[in-house]
Amino acid sequence: MFDYLIVGAGFAGSVLAERLANGSDKKVLICDKRPHIAGNAFDYYNDEGILIHKYGPHIFHTNSKDVFDYLGKFTEWREYQHRVLANVDGMQVPMPINLDTINKLYGLNLTAFEVEDFFKKVAEPCENIRTSEDVVVSKVGRELYEKFFKNYTRKQWGLDPSELDASVTSRVPTRTNRDDRYFTDVYQAMPKHGYTRMFEKMLDHPNIKIMLNTDYREIMHEIPYRDMIYTGPVDSFFNYEYGKLPYRSLEFRHETHDTEQFQNAPVVNYPNDQPYTRITEFKYLTGQEHKKTSIVYEYPQAEGDPYYPIPRRENAEIYAKYKALADARKDVHFVGRLATYKYYNMDQIVAQALTEYGKIVGMKRKEATLYKAPTEKMTLPMRVLSKVNANGKMAATNAG
Ligand SMILES: Cc1cc2nc3c(=O)[nH]c(=O)nc-3n(C[C@H](O)[C@H](O)[C@H](O)COP(=O)(O)OP(=O)(O)OC[C@H]3O[C@@H](n4cnc5c(N)ncnc54)[C@H](O)[C@@H]3O)c2cc1C
Repeated sequence: MFDYLIVGAGFAGSVLAERLANGSDKKVLICDKRPHIAGNAFDYYNDEGILIHKYGPHIFHTNSKDVFDYLGKFTEWREYQHRVLANVDGMQVPMPINLDTINKLYGLNLTAFEVEDFFKKVAEPCENIRTSEDVVVSKVGRELYEKFFKNYTRKQWGLDPSELDASVTSRVPTRTNRDDRYFTDVYQAMPKHGYTRMFEKMLDHPNIKIMLNTDYREIMHEIPYRDMIYTGPVDSFFNYEYGKLPYRSLEFRHETHDTEQFQNAPVVNYPNDQPYTRITEFKYLTGQEHKKTSIVYEYPQAEGDPYYPIPRRENAEIYAKYKALADARKDVHFVGRLATYKYYNMDQIVAQALTEYGKIVGMKRKEATLYKAPTEKMTLPMRVLSKVNANGKMAATNAG
């Protein structure tokens, strides 16, 4: 009898498996329909011996010390600051847009103060910022919007930015200085030996059993368990009762080249002229030295694995109905970005899973991260043992 059946061995499922087994001595069966653990963060050494991310580049960044420290129990970190160039007007310029982007693009020599004025002049004020187009045009004007955002967003989402929630483009800042880091979080690092190795350590516990290549529906009636933790798509769990929740998918084209370096940055975005959105060169991310190099192209598409929930009001309304069904299921915990239909970064999913574990054991997230319940096996015999050890007979001390 398992205490928990966990569906999905990505961040959400694996963190909960680790906490329930290590923290609460629960017996856990974790299954995944894919042939590997680590969910979308799965990485592996390809035939040439280069560490690559199967489902596109995964860069770890967070402002949460708790999350960073928690994962640090399962991996050493390699410091890494992510940088992106955008291929625009035949040049490669820093993205997010910063002082150097503007100077290079327009052949100018502006200072930080002057570029602020530049943005003020080109920006088109918008009283009610509602869509992804509003966000950008109100900050940097229509020309830069068209060069950097319009077509990229159309390609990425299959929708015009004017049809997407403001949240999509608000993720990308605009800078008046020369900071060309893609993220500004306090903690930016990559697991030194890769994500999969980190997951292996997380799941390495005698109470955790793993079943790969297994859809939970194949086993849920065969294997006894008490509660379920579900990290798959919420609409699929409820047999699409309210229809399919729309997702954007991607096709990844991996290539290895017989050269040490392929491009001038870890990621180069192609907003306008190519069918792919970006090219990532993995050695920048992993720090691996190798005489060849591996890259991946990303082609957005409508069909395929569900990667990005599409943030639009009508989709949020469908999700709200599924959420009501999910909330009514006291025997199932819905965790992770497919089960809660929202784009979350890895650190946010780790935080969400730790919070869920906190709820299960009745603690705040921070305490739950470190929690280890005293087991019956430990408390009782240890007390008795220490009493005997103290004076050879029965002592009053309690080492419990
Ligand atoms: C292209 C891309 C790039 C990204 N880059 C970054 C990044 O740079 N930084 C960052 O912080 N985040 C990034 N993310 C987000 C990151 O992937 C997620 O935050 C994280 O993977 C979410 O973890 P999860 O456990 O919720 O979901 P997942 O990793 O998707 O895990 C869910 C698992 O459930 C399994 N499953 C689903 N249905 C079933 C079923 N019926 N039976 C059994 N198993 C099932 C799936 O196979 C999957 O393995 C990126 C995402 C994508 C798609």
